[in-house]
Amino acid sequence: MGEDNADELRELGEQLQDASTVLQVQEIRNAWLGRKGIITARLKGVALLPVEERRQAGQQWNSVRLAIETMIDDALARLQNQEEILQLEQERLDMTIPGIEPAVALLHPLTRVRRLVEDVFLRMGFTLSYGPEVESEWYNFEALNIPPNHPARDMQDSFFVDIPNLVLRTHTSPVQIRGMQAAAGQLPVKIIAPGRVYRRDDDPTHTPMFHQIEGLVVDHKISLADLQGTLLAMTKDLLGSDIRTRFRPSYFPFTEPSMEVDVTCAACNGTGCRVCKGTGWVEILGSGMVHPVVLRNGGYDPKQVTGFAFGLGIERLAMRIFELDDLRLLYQNDLEFLSRFSRYTGRPAL
Ligand SMILES: [Zn+2]
Repeated sequence: MGEDNADELRELGEQLQDASTVLQVQEIRNAWLGRKGIITARLKGVALLPVEERRQAGQQWNSVRLAIETMIDDALARLQNQEEILQLEQERLDMTIPGIEPAVALLHPLTRVRRLVEDVFLRMGFTLSYGPEVESEWYNFEALNIPPNHPARDMQDSFFVDIPNLVLRTHTSPVQIRGMQAAAGQLPVKIIAPGRVYRRDDDPTHTPMFHQIEGLVVDHKISLADLQGTLLAMTKDLLGSDIRTRFRPSYFPFTEPSMEVDVTCAACNGTGCRVCKGTGWVEILGSGMVHPVVLRNGGYDPKQVTGFAFGLGIERLAMRIFELDDLRLLYQNDLEFLSRFSRYTGRPAL
């Protein structure tokens, strides 16, 4: 042994010094200690020596092998430790990086507006009520005092179903009748009924399917003042306390008297523009005192109770809130457009 071994150990030391990965050290281990490695060959060579030299040479090469193993193990431990630290640094979570907002699961602007309206009325003690979208002609028309010759009953205006006496409901008003029937004589009846309705219309301000919210209050001594107070509270809550509201006489078969409610145009603040056709006002809902025939069809005696009802177009309100001039934009699934309204949570309440 002697010089020979010292050179080899020095050479190994240099190789290990240069190795920068665990893999490289494993390759070095193979080259020295593997089946065809340098030291393995030397140990085999011992068997060829004369008998009197074998013992000493064997012990020497064995101690060299042990020294090599120790050097390699040390190098491995050092590199494994380094690699672990590096890996930990690369994988470290920076909790201060802002999260990525998902591009899905945003509420549609119409859902947002519907919930805002529902919220206003739920806070006033109304409860939610629902009816079918495929409705019987009786609930959709007759029960609401809509006579057979009324234009809404024309094939041109309503979607009829192949089954006789069924129609895609043209408004949420049938839920007035269903709501009263469900209350079965109890008082007060105080419901709002949101949902989809269908009419044969298609232009910038009308789509064949749209959304309404119906409201109905029936009790002793309900007056026009209750109707006005309720709707004023709603418009201020939804559109801001500086909003101006106008009640305009109108006609609906199921209310008497009937009123349409206008609010100041958001686009021109009431001075008159293209959106409001120069009037400064935008209509947002129809309303009135419940017609005696309707009360009777709901199972209530018009001599004992009175009521008011209203129907509000959610699209129309959304156009007012988001200042849109074409409601069809709401139905084109343009995420870029729709997400513009994703942060709207309503105006500050009074
Ligand atoms: Zn205007």
